[in-house]
Amino acid sequence: MYYVPDGTRMCGFYECSECGSRFLSLRIAPVLTCPFCGEEPDMEIGPDEAVPENVETARLLQVIEGEEEVEKMDKLLSLAVTGGDWDWF
Ligand SMILES: [Zn+2]
Repeated sequence: MYYVPDGTRMCGFYECSECGSRFLSLRIAPVLTCPFCGEEPDMEIGPDEAVPENVETARLLQVIEGEEEVEKMDKLLSLAVTGGDWDWF
């Protein structure tokens, strides 16, 4: 598995409106910070630090349920990223 751990039974399928990346995440929310062009908010950031701009550019397209479905999507997406042959159909 590339995006999520083995045995994941549910994850979110996201597409970033900024860079167009598609990815899976264990976190399921309407929008997420893009792992490719966005920066994860630093949880240790102090209250004095500036709050980052809204970087939640990745929108939830679909919730993937079922271990096999998750594995299938993970494989498809990771092949796309790593340049392997893949086909949506
Ligand atoms: Zn992005």
